Amino acid sequence: MENVVIMGTGCAGLTAAIYTARANLKPLVLTGVMPGGLLTTTSIVENFPGFPDGVDGFELMQRMQQQAEKFGARVQFSVIESVDLKSSPIRLVVDGQPVETKTLIIASGAGHKHLDIPGEHELEKKGVTYCATCDGALPVFRNQHLVVVGGGDSACEEANYLTRFASKVSLVHRRDSLRASRIMAERTLANPKISMVWDSVLTEVQDVSAGKVTGVKLKNLKTGAESVLPCAGVFIAVGHVPNTQLFQGQLDLDPAGYVVPVKGTATRVPGVFVAGDCADSVYRQAVTAAGMGCGAAIEAERYLASHGG
Ligand code: NAP
Repeated sequence: MENVVIMGTGCAGLTAAIYTARANLKPLVLTGVMPGGLLTTTSIVENFPGFPDGVDGFELMQRMQQQAEKFGARVQFSVIESVDLKSSPIRLVVDGQPVETKTLIIASGAGHKHLDIPGEHELEKKGVTYCATCDGALPVFRNQHLVVVGGGDSACEEANYLTRFASKVSLVHRRDSLRASRIMAERTLANPKISMVWDSVLTEVQDVSAGKVTGVKLKNLKTGAESVLPCAGVFIAVGHVPNTQLFQGQLDLDPAGYVVPVKGTATRVPGVFVAGDCADSVYRQAVTAAGMGCGAAIEAERYLASHGG
């Protein structure tokens, strides 16, 4: 029987792991399919406190894992297949094996949102990608015209990053102003290799029959005009969807799928706590996820203490 199982190894999960490990609860920390979470796919994180020169996202997550393991956390590369939150203790199936735990901290994060347009899924990994830092340096994208979709911090970060390799980057946004933070928006608009395509959406990625990206079909939402923009790659950065499918019907989820805590990090199921992007549609920052992970760990520790350890 486990004291604490932590689902996810992003900022929230690993911070919860550091705190529960230091409390000598020997947490079992399950990575899911993306160890380190979404932060491992960003480039330099410039706003995590304590790093005035920025820190590589992958390195930050590795350091958090080392810190958790130093205090006794057991990080396991595994996926939770099912969860029964009605049973006490809580029952999980992890890589086909049953696991019982007194408390569960859900820090399952979020995945990339898709556009669901023709050609997008067919050409995924053949020129369509959701991660510039993972794929931007591939030879197929070098010295090519690339398209980035979105108007938030992620899209701006991706567009700026891609200018290192691309001949030109077109940033397609559905409105006429960026949602991104001011510093990121200003940097993007000032970059001579980035050209903005305002008020426009992609309606198709071409060319499925060629098995590679040759261009995108665009529609201007203000004028209705349609056009084709030739390009060699499409980087989609239009937000995220929370990884909460396992909890449908077992926890309160909002219409977008985010877990709705009843108070702080507590859910309506005793002993089950939630932290990070899977429960935060508002801030979604590394540091707020870490803060929620800390809160969930403290709540789990208190719950165990008040239920006989
Ligand atoms: P976001 O802020 O939700 O932005 C998503 C963007 O995609 C918006 O501009 C949105 O347009 C657009 N969009 C959404 N659905 C679309 C669709 N179906 N078709 C076309 N466009 C669509 O997401 P994000 O940029 O991934 O950022 C998420 C959070 O992480 C934010 O809080 C952000 O500040 C943070 N973040 C921070 C950093 C950093 O500080 N370095 C880097 C990356 C992310 P509208 O604007 O019209 O809604």
